Amino acid sequence: MKFFYPFIRFSVATILSFSVVSCQANTNELEKFLTRIEIEYEQISIELGTAYWNFYSGEEKPDLLTPKNKYFALLTNDTLNNYIEKWYPKRSEITDTILQCRIKVWHNTLLSAKVEYDAEIMKLRNELEEMLEVKDNNENQASIIPAKMRELINLRNKKSQDLGFKNYVHFTFENNGLGYNWFKEFVNSLDKATLEPYKALIEKAKNEKQIKEFSQINAFQLIGIFYANNSPQLPKTVNNIDMVKESLANIGIFYNDLPSKLVEKQLPAGVGGQGIMLNIPGDFRAVMTLEMDISVWMHEMGHGLHGLFNSIDQPILEGYEWIPGNGTPAFSEGMAETSAWLTRNPEWLKKYAHLTDDEINAQKDLLNTYSPAFIRYHIANFMQEMELYLYPEKEYDQIQKDVAKKYLLIESDNIRTRDLNNIIYVAYPLYLQSYLLADIIACQIHQTLKEKFGNEYVFNKDVGKYLEVFYKHGEYYPWQERMIMGTGKELDIDAYLNYYKIN
Ligand SMILES: [Zn+2]
Repeated sequence: MKFFYPFIRFSVATILSFSVVSCQANTNELEKFLTRIEIEYEQISIELGTAYWNFYSGEEKPDLLTPKNKYFALLTNDTLNNYIEKWYPKRSEITDTILQCRIKVWHNTLLSAKVEYDAEIMKLRNELEEMLEVKDNNENQASIIPAKMRELINLRNKKSQDLGFKNYVHFTFENNGLGYNWFKEFVNSLDKATLEPYKALIEKAKNEKQIKEFSQINAFQLIGIFYANNSPQLPKTVNNIDMVKESLANIGIFYNDLPSKLVEKQLPAGVGGQGIMLNIPGDFRAVMTLEMDISVWMHEMGHGLHGLFNSIDQPILEGYEWIPGNGTPAFSEGMAETSAWLTRNPEWLKKYAHLTDDEINAQKDLLNTYSPAFIRYHIANFMQEMELYLYPEKEYDQIQKDVAKKYLLIESDNIRTRDLNNIIYVAYPLYLQSYLLADIIACQIHQTLKEKFGNEYVFNKDVGKYLEVFYKHGEYYPWQERMIMGTGKELDIDAYLNYYKIN
């Protein structure tokens, strides 16, 4: 999906091997059981995907509760939980690596469900989703949302602590493929690398505009310049869906052969697009809100490619997104952005946005210059949410101010803050860092495509086939391994900083 932040408006909107004889009998039973459960799991996932599709597309009246309750029953199934608890610690004894992986992914899925599908949390979530879904709530209801959100945050923390984690942040990061320590280091290194160049941007702005105190609006202006130059502008006559088809055909992927459907419709504030794999790999649909640029369409389509070219057979390894531990959100968003980045490629821009080399170079210079603001803006956004869990005693207002000072270096005390009523915090908790990681993943993959297929790679029909290396294994390999398979290395933050000439 593609989120926007409502209070800033930018100018754009076989591997199989067998098997230690001694545990063969036991794993046969286990495998038979898991296979049966996974068929059921996939069926419910399709039902929930369909319900969310109806929710966003308005095609039919959505029924979210029935599939959620079915999930609840399945995830709390004692036999399933006992099997996974028993086998997870000794999964390395199992030589069938696919079964081994299914146990690992089940473990993560069940663990995350212990929080998100806890009866109390689920009830509160459903309540909040309903309150936030309706626009223009009556005042009474709107005023209780922040307190309810706090309750949800505290419950998630408490439940995580019951499970032996320090808090919900630690819990989530052990389960989302990133790891809390890795992530902390990631944030620190980006903070450090972008600090001086960002300060230089501030000084420049202050001098040029005769500003005494750098304000929030000044910061948003810097970030806005990045976004304005990062969003391809096509002639008004161009139809986005045709452009998606052509951009994919250029790399050898034929949209009309895919079980895929893209539509346009007004979405709730803050949501730019919502792509849903109803059935992996057989049914992808996406709805884009009005007047989104082509990169948003290609982003959602990228989620589609990720699911439609998934050729793993086991449903739990297909990575349905409905239970956090079942997938790797940062990588999924990376796949979406890899597709969006096709429309930021110079050769693509020359052909479809009719830009000259000089214009493209000038744009890239601006992106380089303002990228520290873009990166720090992302950090500020996800830290704002994270600190709610890390410092539950702190007012949200204060968190937002502190984060704005720390990462956006706002000097003025007059900082506009938002109420605690963000649907993303309810429905996709601790998800926002995925978008910054996605930019890095996409950058790295495009670097590889350029090296392998040359400057004209966005018009090379073999590129689509190559991208399948990232799609086809589902959750069978950890995401960093998928990066190695496709690009030869793990996530390379230095290469990303070099791309934007931040060093
Ligand atoms: Zn997305």
